[in-house]
Amino acid sequence: MHPREQTIFALSSGRPPSAIAMVRVSGPLAGIAVTALAGKLPTPRMATRVQLRDAGQQPIDDAVVLWFPGPASATGEDVAEFHIHGGRAVLAALLVALAAFENVRAAEPGEFTRRGFENGKLDLTEAEALDDLIHADTDRQRRQALRQMKGLLGDRARDWRAQIIEASALIEAGIDFSDEGDVPRELIEPALEKIKALHGEIQQVLAAQGRSERLREGLVVAIAGPPNVGKSTLMNQLARREVAIVSPHAGTTRDVIEVQLDLDGYPVTVIDTAGIRETDDPVEQEGVRRARARAAEADLVLWMIDAQHESARGEAAASAWVVRNKIDLEGDGTASRRDSANGSGMADRGIEFGVSAARGDGVQELMTALVMFAQDFFGSGEDGLIGRVRQRKLLQETEVMLRRSIEVIGKGEELAAEELRGAAVALGRLLGRVDVEDILDVIFREFCVGK
Ligand code: GDP
Repeated sequence: MHPREQTIFALSSGRPPSAIAMVRVSGPLAGIAVTALAGKLPTPRMATRVQLRDAGQQPIDDAVVLWFPGPASATGEDVAEFHIHGGRAVLAALLVALAAFENVRAAEPGEFTRRGFENGKLDLTEAEALDDLIHADTDRQRRQALRQMKGLLGDRARDWRAQIIEASALIEAGIDFSDEGDVPRELIEPALEKIKALHGEIQQVLAAQGRSERLREGLVVAIAGPPNVGKSTLMNQLARREVAIVSPHAGTTRDVIEVQLDLDGYPVTVIDTAGIRETDDPVEQEGVRRARARAAEADLVLWMIDAQHESARGEAAASAWVVRNKIDLEGDGTASRRDSANGSGMADRGIEFGVSAARGDGVQELMTALVMFAQDFFGSGEDGLIGRVRQRKLLQETEVMLRRSIEVIGKGEELAAEELRGAAVALGRLLGRVDVEDILDVIFREFCVGK
């Protein structure tokens, strides 16, 4: 039997041991497996308490089972959910019992969602949003994923695609109709109008975004500057704040290289370039390699100087702020923000902060400014349709092809039709309708097992 037709199972809840664990089964043999293990097929969509027994009638667990006959299920296939006690041995016993059925096997990562996608339960943008929701660390990431899961982008893309196909049908009819002469204006005009309107809409969606697709990865801020100005001290100061959500690369000797902050729902990764140093530990080496690569592409650089010795003039490039540290050693010792730019243009030149990384003065002000920068960077996000770089790229391709079709429409209808076909294909790819296997493989591999 082809792996696609096999019945799959996986633990869909978190890592054991846990109070309850949920094992999901999907495929044509789900019903047979449930009947064998539970002794009966439960009423559809009703939580049913059962004794699970293995093939030798030995008890596995006292469980609750749910039965969702296809196609009204998450995958579109027959689906069963086993809610069991979340001990490792209980779980192992159930998984062994399931694997004992012929043509029933453990699921690959994302395979449940992929089956749902292949059975038309959700389009690719919705599948991506589902993955984002599972991986959301901050509130804004969660809200964006939920918005995307409503399928707003998918709905728009489907509508655009249908309209493009209509427009190109008009043009192609014209081409057939005209034989040698020009395509009749009455066919071209409505098509052109439609394409122009569509082009405008797509441009708007592309422009109105901020960089909402970056919400998944977060904003990257690098702290850089001469040695001993206090970069690592600031980093530790940030890592100690309650907002720090993870510090994945803890250095062995002193401080962290990276700290991930949840700033008002925005994910912000701060990288300490002083913490980036040579190491023999292969695990740390990988951390260092990543930190270096990410620092090189930072969205914002905090250029740190010693308030005692250095002046900032000339250091501040666009998207770099000057942080004058050790103001506690200055006469008045108060934190200040010297901001020669206007309040909202956070990426402008000349933004300067006075802090004492050691005492914490001014650190809160710095973080507040980072929140404002993040707001600017990501856009309001409330009407953000684009959730991924992949989606943006395809929309940009669509926009370019529509623009070109508008340009050539009076000169060569065949060329215009060709561009329109390309635009429809790009939108189809956005929805996952015309994508080749390997791209789907890449997207779904990122998912969790059991999803
Ligand atoms: P880095 O090399 O830029 O990472 O600098 P460090 O964070 O290692 O700090 C260098 C030295 O400056 C250390 O001795 C810190 O204790 C000291 N230092 C850091 N921040 C401050 C500060 O705000 N005030 C004072 N007085 N000393 C500081």
